[in-house]
Amino acid sequence: MRENKNREKSEKEKKNKKLELLKNKKLLLTIFFVLALITGVTTVIIVKNIKQAEAERIESEKRAEEQRLEEERLAEEARKKEEEEKAQAEAEAEAQAEKQTKTETPTTKTASGGNCTVNFGTLMLINPNFTVSTSWIANRKTQLISVSKTHGISEAKSSNGDNLMGSEAAKHLNEMVKAYESYNSGHTMQTRSCFRQVGTNCGRLCAKTGTSDHHTGLTCDLIDSTYGTELNTDHYSNHKEWQWLKANSYKYGFIDRFPEAWAGSSMSEPINVDANGSTGLFETWHYRYVGVTAATEIATGKYNGGKYDSLEHYLKSIKKVSDLKNGKC
Ligand SMILES: [Zn+2]
Repeated sequence: MRENKNREKSEKEKKNKKLELLKNKKLLLTIFFVLALITGVTTVIIVKNIKQAEAERIESEKRAEEQRLEEERLAEEARKKEEEEKAQAEAEAEAQAEKQTKTETPTTKTASGGNCTVNFGTLMLINPNFTVSTSWIANRKTQLISVSKTHGISEAKSSNGDNLMGSEAAKHLNEMVKAYESYNSGHTMQTRSCFRQVGTNCGRLCAKTGTSDHHTGLTCDLIDSTYGTELNTDHYSNHKEWQWLKANSYKYGFIDRFPEAWAGSSMSEPINVDANGSTGLFETWHYRYVGVTAATEIATGKYNGGKYDSLEHYLKSIKKVSDLKNGKC
């Protein structure tokens, strides 16, 4: 009985041990599975993270490359723009220089029908060898003002619808007229003819259309009403008032445009302008605005041995024109 009991106990203990062993196995297995699961999940997460990091790295490199390319493109654009601006500035400077040269030393006839001297400003030269077209003359008229309306200088005889001048010349004429009337008390100076659209074909004292100094808009025939309204060479030059005008007009920028000394050996029709600057004309009433500097040099004969110069000879002397006979600048 006792033995049975002991055997039973022993068997029970064996059975318990077996159960415990089985339990332990199950536990180990469970732990193993759990560990495997954790490892698996962790691996998946790590792999996922690595892939994401890699994608981010590639994306970042791509963005950096794009940025670099964009910067290069902008730099190239800026360089091209700078080059274009430089080229444009150079072209403009060149054009400006060319324009300047053309204004200073014109060598060809202008397209608008003027000769090469019409760009000389107040030194503009129009004569039988340096002519202008009727369309040039019509255009010139649009640039002029009326000396009577602007400055109240009266016109002795209304002909050709003249009494027009450039504004600078008109202003100086006004000053000269005032000085004349102040110096010569009781005398009135009037214009007889300023700008002329059409020339006058009246023999040796007149210039045909296209050849007249009156087309410049810088000239007036002047009279002293005390001595009538007719233009007469001897009549004027014999009066002390007119001698004052000849001696003082340069101070106002005006010159005696056709002095006797430059009339040439024979005044003839057509008017003969020679290679040295003789004008073929002698007109004591014809005063021309050239500006104070040039007028002073002409009146004091800077290039003519101290004697009154002609505009033609003066322009040749200062090398504005090269051939007076053939009308070349
Ligand atoms: Zn005249």
